[in-house]
Amino acid sequence: MKKHNFSAGPCILPQSVMQKASEAVLNFNGLDLSLIEISHRSKDFVAVMDRARALALEHLGLQNKGYQALFLQGGASLEFLMVAYNLLENKAAYLNTGTWSDKAIKEAKLLGDIVEVASSKESNFNYIPKNYEVPSSVDYFHCTSNNTIFGTQIQSFPDIKAPMVCDMSSDIFSRQLDFSKFALIYAGAQKNMGPAGTTLVVVKEDILGKVSRKIPSMLDYKVHIGKESMFNTPAVFPVYVSMLTLEWLKDMGGVAAIEKINNQKAGLLYNEIDRNPLFEGFVANKDDRSKMNATFNLTDSAQKDRFDNLWKEAGINGLNGHRSVGGYRASMYNALPLESVQVLVDVMQELERTN
Ligand SMILES: *Cc1c(COP(=O)(O)O)cnc(C)c1O
Repeated sequence: MKKHNFSAGPCILPQSVMQKASEAVLNFNGLDLSLIEISHRSKDFVAVMDRARALALEHLGLQNKGYQALFLQGGASLEFLMVAYNLLENKAAYLNTGTWSDKAIKEAKLLGDIVEVASSKESNFNYIPKNYEVPSSVDYFHCTSNNTIFGTQIQSFPDIKAPMVCDMSSDIFSRQLDFSKFALIYAGAQKNMGPAGTTLVVVKEDILGKVSRKIPSMLDYKVHIGKESMFNTPAVFPVYVSMLTLEWLKDMGGVAAIEKINNQKAGLLYNEIDRNPLFEGFVANKDDRSKMNATFNLTDSAQKDRFDNLWKEAGINGLNGHRSVGGYRASMYNALPLESVQVLVDVMQELERTN
């Protein structure tokens, strides 16, 4: 039986997607060729790229609004640099809510002045700062919607004049937002969309072309847009699997439908964390809790071996917390069924009952 996979990333994908993806590796579209051994310029693969780009915009409600979707390489980590290369002329503002925003800041500092509008670093990023000012003179404002490691998530985004850039790697397509508030969204595929190896970038075209520096071709969003996301050989397999996941999401009823299920999953687990005296949540402010990654710990560390044995026996995988937080982290991405969360909650209750 397949494990209940709470891995933070790379993470669970829908089983039906895995099935179709493995068939395409053997024989793609009945061509008697593998998906991964045909030209990326063949009409069959071009159709995959076009469909993936269109579906991404459709799920975000950004079709025909001046946005382009790209499937690039280099992970979200390369976007930390690319964003600055393409948008930073003088000064940019960053909200520091975790390891990933910290790294984004470090890269951007190579190219210009960075103002950290607020940071929760002093308390190991266990909350989302609020009531900060974003100076109107900045080239852009950057934030991280969901902090995968710490289990916090931004619930309300500021209304600002400057273009808003957001790293949505770990909660893209998980909840409804007014995505037109964002000028650029990026997300590594391996948290909620597909295998590692491709990064979705959704960018409003009119924010580009305003910096004076020369941009190397591979780092230039305009070059990738001009070549319809085929400037170089794209990561054909990750793009194909991402397309299948976006089709699966559409069949499920889209972001609105998956958000309801995600709310149920998170509600079920957080209720148990709050109810069960043997557990406590990591995040200081309940409103900041992530619906994707729940971080928690035992109140009595002497229970550790017993708890670890129980969840492993129940077929659960990937529950250990990140080393910078410790404890446990349950990642509940789109493809994780509600039943898997119920299995975890049952194990937590069994730990209490047999204590
Ligand atoms: C995992 C993650 C990253 C890093 O992604 P790579 O694809 O490994 O570069 C960046 N930001 C967030 C929010 C993440 O969860």
